Amino acid sequence: VLKGTGSGVLPPMLEQYVALRDAHPDFLLLFQVGDFYETFGEDAERAARLLGIALTHKSSKDFSTPMAGVPVRALDSNVERLLAAGVRVAVADQIEEPGSGLVERRVTQLLTPGTVTEERHLTADENYLGAVATGDGYGLALLDVSTGEFRCAAFHTRTALYDELARHRAREVLLAPELSGNAALLADFQARFPVMLSPANFDEEGARAELKAVLGEVPGSLGSAALVRACGAVLGYARLTQQGRLEMVRRVVRFEPGAHMRLPDAAVRALEVFQAQSPQGVTLMDVLAETRTAGGRRRLRAWLRAPLLDELSIRSRLDAVETLTRASDLRGAVRALLYRAHDLERLAARVATRRASPREVASLARTLDLLPEAVKLLDAQDGLLAGIRARLGALPDVVTLIRAALVDDPPIRAGEGGLIRDGFHAELDGLRSEALGHRAWLAELETSERARTGIGSLKVGFNNVFGYYLEVNGPHLGKVPADYRQIATLKDRARFTRPDLREREREIARLELAAQRLELEVFTELRESLAAHAEGLAEAAGAVAELDVLTALAEIAVESGWVRPQTVSGRAHLVQARHPVVERATGGRFVPNDAELGPNRHTLLLTGPNMAGKSTYLRTVALCALLHQVGSFVPADRAELPIYDAIHTRIGASDDLAGGRSTFMVEMSELASILHGATHRSLVILDEVGRGTSTLDGLAIAQAALEHLHGTGAHTLFATHYFELTRLEAEHPGLVNLHVAAEEDEAAGGLTFYHQVIPGAARQSYGVEVARLAGLPAPVTTRAARLLTALNAGGDDRRLRRELAALDLSRLTPMQALEILHTWQREAQRAAEGGEREVRNL
Ligand code: ADP
Repeated sequence: VLKGTGSGVLPPMLEQYVALRDAHPDFLLLFQVGDFYETFGEDAERAARLLGIALTHKSSKDFSTPMAGVPVRALDSNVERLLAAGVRVAVADQIEEPGSGLVERRVTQLLTPGTVTEERHLTADENYLGAVATGDGYGLALLDVSTGEFRCAAFHTRTALYDELARHRAREVLLAPELSGNAALLADFQARFPVMLSPANFDEEGARAELKAVLGEVPGSLGSAALVRACGAVLGYARLTQQGRLEMVRRVVRFEPGAHMRLPDAAVRALEVFQAQSPQGVTLMDVLAETRTAGGRRRLRAWLRAPLLDELSIRSRLDAVETLTRASDLRGAVRALLYRAHDLERLAARVATRRASPREVASLARTLDLLPEAVKLLDAQDGLLAGIRARLGALPDVVTLIRAALVDDPPIRAGEGGLIRDGFHAELDGLRSEALGHRAWLAELETSERARTGIGSLKVGFNNVFGYYLEVNGPHLGKVPADYRQIATLKDRARFTRPDLREREREIARLELAAQRLELEVFTELRESLAAHAEGLAEAAGAVAELDVLTALAEIAVESGWVRPQTVSGRAHLVQARHPVVERATGGRFVPNDAELGPNRHTLLLTGPNMAGKSTYLRTVALCALLHQVGSFVPADRAELPIYDAIHTRIGASDDLAGGRSTFMVEMSELASILHGATHRSLVILDEVGRGTSTLDGLAIAQAALEHLHGTGAHTLFATHYFELTRLEAEHPGLVNLHVAAEEDEAAGGLTFYHQVIPGAARQSYGVEVARLAGLPAPVTTRAARLLTALNAGGDDRRLRRELAALDLSRLTPMQALEILHTWQREAQRAAEGGEREVRNL
């Protein structure tokens, strides 16, 4: 039963431990023994290893087992470490005062990364628990227990499913047996998502029951069995860890992945929306993070994850942002107000589950206090802002309810009294004033007893052992009255008590305990009546979050000089566009660029030396398109943008080491999904495709991919170091060469970059030049330059051979043959001269 135990007979406490542990097989049980949470047996060895705590032994005559524990006060930090290490934790508390027998214990908390709701274990960002089942396609359910947000979607392909999961960054995922039982799939999944995978019940009947229990029905919108099972699994698992409290979950929203712009995970990463590619890098989210509340931050992330497709919705967000950019007083006032708000979404969820502490209820009141002010500020607004105003104003007066009952600064815990306001509850007031009467009597006692006994030095004292006592010092002991009973003798004094003193003391203790109990009851009632407003609170919380995002977007637009984009169809035109992140990093030195895409120029082929600014230009265009569909202003002087159905990117060489795939393999599989997915309404950004393989291979693949994309009509920006591609401009109408200006500058010792994108193809690749800039030794760069010349000549040779092979000698006159020979000789001489000049220049 327990590893390391000698005989089979366990002491009763360990029997209890084993029973609780076995009832929660997937959890590490922390078992309260007085001031410590202990673990035993194998769990103790594991805990000692993970937490770096001492491993001891619990032994008696015929019995011994490993034991490791953490102090009760250090529970939180240790739980955090266990969760971070991928361990689910069950906490068993002593639920009665220790007496003579075995103390009763119960599991009071089950903690897993995806289901924690305690503020101290949460980051401000969302905290999703995910579940995936298959059937007709894939069903994905996502639940944020800390806010009650419950979403689900069905997918046809695994790629689409992975994209959605990655974007929501679930902290814990439940996989249906048909998925977790497939070893190859499981390995692939774990390589992509290093999150905790937890077992759960995916049985369809069980899922239906779960949905009925929590939502009151099995929503018809779920449709497929895969979705029903995924939704049921998250609910079941969440209900287990929340010990049945799932009141914050009120509905499930089925979202259509197709209702939003397709933004594959590769694009989110390449555009550094949430995560920079270098550790200290800045993200788009960092630039946009002008939100004032945690809920606003979460909402902004949600908007960025799911840009809109509907023109009207985009316009109404832009209208609201524009209004807020113009009304700087209003914007300032709203931001100042939001700054004082607590995390209303999470507070609403705590209220719904009746778990809010007195302090959280007080925070709720303080935050709700701000709403009428917000309503007043938004008084004259229309559109989205008017909708927000209406939702903020719809909540009945919850604050008065809270304020009437709760003191201004209540304690964290509800069980220890001191939280209910005087005058709120008659019975409580009665108990308090009675106790106060007894205390007053005690306070008077010293004076009255001094008078009665004539002992001027008589004192009334208190300690934990005796309670209240009367103290008389040596010289006066003779004057002690007969009703005093001695309870302690010290060197020069004695302490006494009196029956009525004891009586009063017992009375005070009784009254205080009764008052505490009553306070808890009153508070519980208050929580109940607040729970009735949970729906309205969640609505108001959503409105606050939205207001926060819109105001933040307006703030950035004003601060950074962004412009409202116009929605147009089939073309894009950006004037003086900037990359919002690089612009910050380069201070005032950023060079803005224009971009134009349309029916007769839908493929832009961008050449130029490394470090010239090609990827920055590509990303600038993509970020402007993304921001437009989020409903944000964009970093440009003027912007006209179409509604793209997707942004596809293939940028840079990212190694998927965990997945064990080579760079080239990753590049090609990303390219494959782009070529399959891009439509004439997509924006495609390709940077240095084909870099991961040999030159000829790479060139061939790059050209074929480019031609294919060109055929789809997608707006494509293609940056490349293969100049050979620039000749495609002549063959494909709609394909246009651009390059980034750079100049060789002998005096400055190399290349000068202007970061300016201009029409036409670049002259040469400058690769060797950049290598020299980067500090490669001179002999190496010189040798490279010679090799390059030789390779270029090799290219000519191949062409000559091709032409030679194509000649039909039987139909050639001697004169013609001579002319051809002459042309070839001229070209060869010119190439040789050019090569030497290049070598000299280098
Ligand atoms: P490439 O893709 O051509 O190799 P990048 O786009 O990565 O070049 O740009 C290289 C560096 O040049 C960037 O890190 C940035 O600091 C700077 N840069 C790029 N574009 C600009 C610009 N428009 N204005 C100012 N600096 C720029």
